[in-house]
Amino acid sequence: MNIITDYLLLALFWGIIFNFPMLFIIIRLRLLTVPRGVIAGATIAIMLFVISPFLWCALLVFFLTSSLISKQTSPQKQIVIAEFSKDSTRDAIQVLSNSLPAIVFGIMYLLIDYFPVVQENNNISLLSNSPLIFAAFTSIATHNSDTWMTEIGINTSAIPRLITNLKKQVPKGTSGGVTIMGTIAGLVGASIISFVYFIFLVCSSKFGLIQMFIQFVLLTLMGTVGGLIDSLEGATIQGLYYCDRCQKVTERQIHKCGNTTRFLKGNRLVTNDLVNISSAFLSGILAILGFLLIENFF
Ligand SMILES: [Zn+2]
Repeated sequence: MNIITDYLLLALFWGIIFNFPMLFIIIRLRLLTVPRGVIAGATIAIMLFVISPFLWCALLVFFLTSSLISKQTSPQKQIVIAEFSKDSTRDAIQVLSNSLPAIVFGIMYLLIDYFPVVQENNNISLLSNSPLIFAAFTSIATHNSDTWMTEIGINTSAIPRLITNLKKQVPKGTSGGVTIMGTIAGLVGASIISFVYFIFLVCSSKFGLIQMFIQFVLLTLMGTVGGLIDSLEGATIQGLYYCDRCQKVTERQIHKCGNTTRFLKGNRLVTNDLVNISSAFLSGILAILGFLLIENFF
């Protein structure tokens, strides 16, 4: 059998084995909706494992840390959940939109960078570093950064300011609202995923410590930039609606109270999920450019 087929079968086998206990925990903790969210999550988790077990670890870290941080509820956050319909149990569409950029960059990595090296060396244990896997990690770092920014932002007492006009204060939970604490939290969120990438580099043993550290810093920064792009899109092009009954701005066409909302601003086609996908793709592309730029110095 071909070495690529060997790799795919082996990764698929271990992917299924490793994901079973995770799915059990996810269902028990009600982190995903049953069954759609769970089916989508399992498919994505196995695909990421096949791309690279390290990328799968990054998704797991994103999922567990962001879920834990989302479950932390303060009285201030309860109000925001009620007003903006932000809920931490993810549905299938959210899971897919959170993972699609990582999967696209990851499959490109397999086809363009990983498989040719595996075939040449006839060795499947070989780890290959590339701008494409760097981008895949960055897109997950973007989601983690965004989640940390939002959650910490909601839980602190600071009043957010609009990213497009920092003089303007906006209510907590508003799309495009940023705080200093939230941005620092975004850096921390991105650095956690970047640390998983750092371990990936250590295991690939192709780089010196300084080179690995530079990549760690770049990935953290790119992930945070991605989180800020998410906020920027939220403040400019994302479709926002107004509930006349509750007199609140919302991201949803049907408000939590059941009332059909009125279109307020932005683009109707630009939903919160589309904002998540596009910010992760953009940060991934920026990460590729950044990676190629620093690669010249190695
Ligand atoms: Zn309402």
